[in-house]
Formats: sequence, structure tokens, C-alpha cells
Amino acid sequence: MTTSNLETPTTSIRDRIPNWPADYAERYRELGLWEGKTFGTRVDEWAAAYGDSTAIVDGEQRISYRDLANRATLVANGLRSLGIRAGDAVLLQLPNSAEFIVTWFALQRLAAIPVHTQPGHRHAEVGHLAGATGAVAYVTTGVFNRFDHRELARDILDTSPSLRTVIVAGDLGDHGSDDRFVPYSTLSTAGDDPIEDVAKPSDIALLLLSGGTTGMPKLIGRTHDDYQYNSRAAGERSRLDKDSVYLAVLPIAFNYTWNCPGILATLRVGGKVVLASHQDPAICFELIERERVTMTAINPQLAPLWLDERSWTSNDLSSLRIIEIGSARLSDHEARRIIDEFDATLQQILGMSEGLFCATHLDDEPELLATTQGVPVSVYDEIRVVDTEGNEVPTGEVGELTVRGPYTPRGYFDAEEHNRKSFTADGFYCTGDLVRRLESGHLIVSGRIKDQINRGGEKIAATEIEGALLRHPKIRAVALIGEPDETLGERSVAFVVVESGTKSAPNRRDLADFLGDEAGFAAYKAPDVVRIIDEMPLTPLGKMDKNALRQQLAGA
Ligand code: AMP
Repeated sequence: MTTSNLETPTTSIRDRIPNWPADYAERYRELGLWEGKTFGTRVDEWAAAYGDSTAIVDGEQRISYRDLANRATLVANGLRSLGIRAGDAVLLQLPNSAEFIVTWFALQRLAAIPVHTQPGHRHAEVGHLAGATGAVAYVTTGVFNRFDHRELARDILDTSPSLRTVIVAGDLGDHGSDDRFVPYSTLSTAGDDPIEDVAKPSDIALLLLSGGTTGMPKLIGRTHDDYQYNSRAAGERSRLDKDSVYLAVLPIAFNYTWNCPGILATLRVGGKVVLASHQDPAICFELIERERVTMTAINPQLAPLWLDERSWTSNDLSSLRIIEIGSARLSDHEARRIIDEFDATLQQILGMSEGLFCATHLDDEPELLATTQGVPVSVYDEIRVVDTEGNEVPTGEVGELTVRGPYTPRGYFDAEEHNRKSFTADGFYCTGDLVRRLESGHLIVSGRIKDQINRGGEKIAATEIEGALLRHPKIRAVALIGEPDETLGERSVAFVVVESGTKSAPNRRDLADFLGDEAGFAAYKAPDVVRIIDEMPLTPLGKMDKNALRQQLAGA
């Protein structure tokens, strides 16, 4: 391994993210919401408190709390020997695996910043993240879901000046002679020197991605303080304790799986985290039986598959106490079926990487469990449901959900202009979600004003894809709209006006190939349906009239 000379970045990632005003920060500390501990400290505290109890189950591998802390030290030494330093951004794109968790804590030990890249992300997204954050390393895998991540990593290395090293959890394939590629297994051979924790609790501990509405995904910086409070409050709402066994089904990099309450809240209280290698309910049910899982989290897209599997499974699911469902709207009908057909409690949630996390109470009336997306997990979450002028609407009426609080940061990374639109002058984040708030404080999601498609929980910023499709030689104008879909919740429909003189209009396959192969976007962003229209409807101000297109879809 080589150690390269690193230049200290002129402006740190911390300085490129708006902070909470000092009086708010002070209050959150005084109230004990921000506990003043870094994740590096935490992992040692957990090792001391929970020692030999199992922290992580990954296949046949069982890792104790002590082992997790030790492995994090070994891997941190390996990363340090590659030149990774405090404040460096490191892209993390690993499947649900112990390596993800160990690497994450190893980076915390170094005060380096993991960037949570999603498994489906390809050149366009990963390249953007590398460029935006100035990432110095990229931790990835070999072939996963029939896609060779090493090839992607090579392209990213070639096009991202800051990136020096790719660490592969798996074999290096054709890249064994490329000294920019390092096998993950060698990271643990650089020694076990203790590493001084130079992070401050108010530092950025990780960067998450927003679903976004414009351009490439925005980055959300979460601090040690705020992120730990988020998981503590979420864990309390789900009453996690040392007997909790959490099954991670959805991608581990999602804020939902990682921290709401997910993996970090389970580790915090000494519970056991079980990693599912696949979302297939048959595999998950086996794990529930084998590990006596008490809680899991899925999205509405998986709900019917779980119900179906439930109707004939022979697995013993009696340990399961909570099925958390969120990331897109669960229909009331499906919610009632989950309540009726599983012995576990349904816990609906409304969460976002930008912070705010809402969940139903475990002892809520069935009607609230079935029809609402919960109550904010902290009494210090300040919620305003507002009209288009920013005035609060009466209880029970629909308005935009806006929030300010101890784990909702005050702005995105490096996005001054965007922040002025997404945050009010007094620091409320405008979620773009339309909700109704009941007297009880429960929120019901009734729609969205942001130009985004929620495809089975994966978010697509319409303008990002429209911009890319406009570069297609056969396309003169294009609008991307979400249409209700029984399986996905929402699918994406591209309304396309073709260039004059075009003989054959592009179809779905053409657009998927163009977006994937040529523009390098994640596959889930390709339109599900293409509709050719003669002219794009326009508003009186000359903008694309998406409402007219929506009406057209509803009429059809
Ligand atoms: P992400 O940061 O990718 O988790 O996306 C957050 C967004 O997902 C929210 O702002 C909502 O638009 C959407 N979302 C999350 N949970 C729900 C839910 N239960 N119902 C409807 N939309 C949801």
C-alpha cells in the first residue's frame, strides 16, 4: 500500500453546509438531545457495554460488539495507510454486508466522511458525487446484481481527478495489475494501532443523498450529534432494547435502513442486526425464523409480496413484533391487510434523509395505524403545515409539510441558491410533501408538490431525466410525470415530442438504453411508459403544463 501526500482541502465539507444557529445548537445540547459523542467514541462504548453479544449477522458470519470495534480499528489503519485522512469524503457503494458497517465505523475512526451511494447508482450519479465531494476513495464491490462495479469504478477513476483509490470487497477481476485498485481484504493487514479520535460531535459524520427535484441529487450532511439523536428518538418510538433483532431488508445505505431506527439505533441499545442478502420474502422469512427477528422495515412495494408469502409460509414468524413500512405511501387497504394478516404491529413511517422522521406509536388505535404516517419522533420537531403563501393551514387541512428541528439540517451541501428555495428564512425545510395533520398530531401524506416521481420508494427528479432525454437526437421536448401504479405506487411516464423528420419515434427500450448506456444513469430512472404527443401543452407563461398532461393521463 502506498501513502500519497495529501493536500488539505481549502474549504472543509463542514464549511460548505449551513449550520444550526448557535442559540439553537446550545439549546439542543442543554436539553441533552445532542449528547456530544462522536461515532468513533460510540463504537468503543458499545464494545465495552455489550462485549461478546452479537452485533451483526451476515450469512454465516457473526460479529460481536467487541469484534466490530476491533475490525473498525484494523480497517481504519488500512484506510489510513492509503492516505485517507480526517475530513476526506469516501464513496461507499456496498451491498448489505458486514463490510459496509465495518467500513463505515472505520471511516468514523478517521473522521473521514462516508458518502452513501445507492446500489443502483451508475456513472452519472457516482461521477457527480465524486466530483461534488472531491472524494479520494471509492469502496465498492465486484459483480452484484449482474453488474460489474469494478468497471464502473475504473470509469469513475478515469474521470474524477480527486479519486485516487478504489477498494473492492471481492476479487479485483481484470484490475489486479492496476495499482489504483486495492482488495478490501488487505485493509486489515496494516496493523491495529489505536487511532486518535479527532472528530468533533458537531462535525459532519456522513453525507446522504436527497431524492431531489432538480438536476443531480443534492447532498445532505448529517452531524454526529444530530444523527445520533435521530436514531435515539426513532429507536425509542419503536421501543428498541438489547433483545431487539433488526432485519435489514432494504439497501443498507438508505437513511431509512441505516438510522430510522434501523441499524444504528439497534446497535446503540445492544440489539442484533441481521443483514438480508436479498429482498425476497422467502429469504427474509427464513431469517426471521432462524434469528428470531423482532423488527424489520420494508416499503409499500414489498408489502403485497410479504402478504402473499405470509399466506402459505411454513416459517415461524412469531418473534416478529414490528413491521415498519414507509418511503412511499402505503394504501390504507394494504395497511389493513398487514394489520389483519400478520401478528406483528404495523408501524407506518414518513421519513426523509433531510431529517424529519415520523412514525406511528406501537399502541395507536388500528385506524391510526392503517391510515396515518405517524407523528414526529421528537417533541422538538417543529412542524408547520402551510399554504402556498407560507401561512399555516387549520388542523385537518392539506398543506405543505415544513419542519425545523434538532436533526433536520438547515441546508444542503454546496447549494446556496437551492437552499434559499428549499428553506424558509427562519430555517424551516420545505419538504414538498402535502400532508394533513390530525388533532392527535398524526400526519397523513396526501400528495406532493415537488416535481419528483416516487417509484417504489426510489425517487426520480423529473428535471434531471428530462434534461438528459433532451440530448436524444430524436427528442424535441419531453416531460416526465408520475402515474399511479399498483405495484410500484408510481411509475414514470415520458411524454415525448419527436424532432421533425424523425421516421420512427423512440420507444421505451430506446430511452432506457440511451439513459443507461450513453448518459450513465441508474436503471430505475428510465421511463416505464413512453407516450408520443404532437405538441407539448404550455401554460400561459410558456412553461410545460404538467397538470394538463396529468389530466390527460387520468382521463386515459
Ligand atoms: P428519502 O430521503 O429518499 O427517504 O425520501 C424522502 C421522501 O420520501 C419524503 O419527502 C416523501 O416524499 C417520501 N416518503 C417517505 N415516506 C413516505 C410515506 N410514508 N408516504 C409518502 N411519501 C413518503
